[in-house]
Amino acid sequence: MAQLQRLIIASGQRQAQNISLTEAQQHYLVRVLRLGKSDRFIAMDGQGNFWLSELDTSLRQAKILEFVHAESELILAVMLMAAMPKGNGFNEVVSQATELGVSCILPLKSDRTLLNPSPQRLQRWRRLTQEASEQSERQIVPTILDPLNFTDSLEMSKTFGTQRYICVARGNVPTLLSCLLAEKLQVKTPPKKPSVVIAIGPEGGWTKEEVEQATSAGFQAVSLGNRILRAVTAPIVALSLVVASLDG
Ligand code: SAH
Repeated sequence: MAQLQRLIIASGQRQAQNISLTEAQQHYLVRVLRLGKSDRFIAMDGQGNFWLSELDTSLRQAKILEFVHAESELILAVMLMAAMPKGNGFNEVVSQATELGVSCILPLKSDRTLLNPSPQRLQRWRRLTQEASEQSERQIVPTILDPLNFTDSLEMSKTFGTQRYICVARGNVPTLLSCLLAEKLQVKTPPKKPSVVIAIGPEGGWTKEEVEQATSAGFQAVSLGNRILRAVTAPIVALSLVVASLDG
């Protein structure tokens, strides 16, 4: 089914075997993707369900042909807690983190964060997770949480995961890769809360106090190597390592 286009639908749009399409979806399928009557696509609800569907003759509805079994999700839930970089840098982070399989992104305001995102910007990030999920054939659309300050985000991360890492650009700390490989044993004999949290700082880096606060809250400080990565590169490197240690 790899060649079929994907479309995210809201749960209210599906009734029995029928999907009623919004005007925007009709436009997308017919004008943008150039699908015609009886052409097929995959409808997905962003919560793990996929249906092989066929456009009907009116082009305003689609018929569900069958449920599609798909397994594109990671075996553990992964949360990215990232300090928001200034400008539009977070757009790329959101899209690429979605492609890599994150389940949840927490934009955080650290001491050195300059950006205070508008509701429109948050909406844009949420749209980007949808587009990237369709593109990379994800079963779920990751959640973008409302931004939190550093202390609240540490608190929230406790409820999410047991394996929590804070990436620090300098200092004598173990590499994320070595920690993940050591934890792999635990993944095989499932831990109580099977999930990983990765925290990445802003352009100016974390303050010393933030790193201390995170480690006292149970985070392991880790390195991504001997070079200083940009705030938009570091999350992608860290998530790639997590994915590499889980997939397969
Ligand atoms: N200006 C800071 C670096 C900030 S880089 C300095 O000169 O120290 C932005 C963020 O990316 C950091 O807070 C950290 O979370 C992450 N990061 C960048 N390079 C890293 C590395 N080699 N190891 C671990 N984390 C890194």
